[in-house]
Amino acid sequence: MAVCARLCGVGPARGCRRRQQRRGPAETAAADSEADTDPEEERIEAGPARCSLLELPPELLVEIFASLPGTDLPSLAQVCSRFRRILHTDTIWRRRCREEYGVCENLRKLEITGVSCRDVYAKLLHRYRHILGLWQPDIGPYGGLLNVVVDGLFIIGWMYLPPHDPHVGDPMRFKPLFRIHLMERKSATVECMYGHKGPHNGHIQIVKRDEFSTKCNQTDHHRMSGGRQEEFRTWLREEWGRTLEDIFHEHMQELILMKFIYTSQYDNCLTYRRIYLPPSHPDDLIKPGLFKGTYGSHGLEIVMLSFHGSRARGTKITGDPNIPAGQQTVEIDLQRRIQLPDVENLRNFNELSRIVLEVREQVRQEQEAGEGPAPPREPAVKDPEGPPAKASKEAGPGAEAAEQSSTSGQGQPFVLPAGVSSRNEDYPRTCRLCFYGTGLIAGHGFTSPERTPGVFVLFDEDRFGFLWLELKSFSLYSRVQATFQNADAPSPQAFDEMLRNIQSLTS
Ligand SMILES: [Zn+2]
Repeated sequence: MAVCARLCGVGPARGCRRRQQRRGPAETAAADSEADTDPEEERIEAGPARCSLLELPPELLVEIFASLPGTDLPSLAQVCSRFRRILHTDTIWRRRCREEYGVCENLRKLEITGVSCRDVYAKLLHRYRHILGLWQPDIGPYGGLLNVVVDGLFIIGWMYLPPHDPHVGDPMRFKPLFRIHLMERKSATVECMYGHKGPHNGHIQIVKRDEFSTKCNQTDHHRMSGGRQEEFRTWLREEWGRTLEDIFHEHMQELILMKFIYTSQYDNCLTYRRIYLPPSHPDDLIKPGLFKGTYGSHGLEIVMLSFHGSRARGTKITGDPNIPAGQQTVEIDLQRRIQLPDVENLRNFNELSRIVLEVREQVRQEQEAGEGPAPPREPAVKDPEGPPAKASKEAGPGAEAAEQSSTSGQGQPFVLPAGVSSRNEDYPRTCRLCFYGTGLIAGHGFTSPERTPGVFVLFDEDRFGFLWLELKSFSLYSRVQATFQNADAPSPQAFDEMLRNIQSLTS
């Protein structure tokens, strides 16, 4: 609006109307000698052109209006009837749809249905702009990841699922849960995409800015001829790549959870809460973001890695009955590097255990003393070929340590100690760096949660691992390579607040 007012050669909208009444748009600005001209007008109109926006030819006005944010255009339409008429030009709205929402579709074909680009902008894109981005569905401890995007002339909600266990390096799988489009001029149509019988009537309610809910109005479309048991089996196979029998044998609790998720999705009446991708900083150890990780018999889960000064955190975006979504699964102390023993001694679990527990004891003592990190008790051991079995504490943050490591060689051989179980045997056999960290473990239903010591193993830019000392198990994490739009946090504070919020929902 400010842009338009300046171009117009007037202040707020009132000036434009006033001049229209007194002189009509055809009169030249040169005749302007009004006593009530405000200084702003004076300054603009004193220029050599002395031209009012109203005098510009319509095609130029179309160009100007098309370059303004779509949200400013309605108030511009209130300035005068000429502006209002010009704002009906569809090329203006076509450009707004493209530039603000990335709609590349040939919007001309809309004309057949009588829907204008202005309708698409106002009744679809602008109307549902607050649901674009990343969301976590409220499915008990399970959580999940929903990505709402503009796709052609649709807004589609894609549910992202981890690849089949234990193939953590495979790409994410996704399936549409709902879509919104303009089938007629009046208003947008919301359709549920769940089930095998095609899109059907659904409903979306935007509860508040960072929360919305979906509802299916025709759940009979989710039914299969074989009945619910058959539907459940199909769902397990398609979404989880598992059979009823293998889950049953592995984990009875898991089966109960699966039933729960299935029932929630069955009615497709879900609430979603917004999540942001972590802000990234050039000094970060690796780029923060989403990772797929192995969680024993719970299968693959989605974890968000973020950096907070000298600490890195892994927050569960999906969860399980023990550690629900939203909880912080691992925390890495980037000031406490762990120097692994050489590869022969690394096979010895007790040796690694001794190193890690030594660091934990150090942490405990420091916490008891109630002081900040003490100076290193011994010089930092940086050379991977150097003496084995040294736990050392780096003074610098992770990035510095990474630099030191990269200058000292191509990383060191890595192998899991004997007796440590890993869902995926296909883990990298060299690592760059290791740090002391803690991992959250709990009983079923998130009972007696406890942070237990472990080792964070950085393999490369896209892979890391966590060795759970007490569980004698190893989780391998691999970066989710998909790119997400509208998912950046407006500020680091907003990101921290989001983390706190999703954590409090399940604790
Ligand atoms: Zn449905």
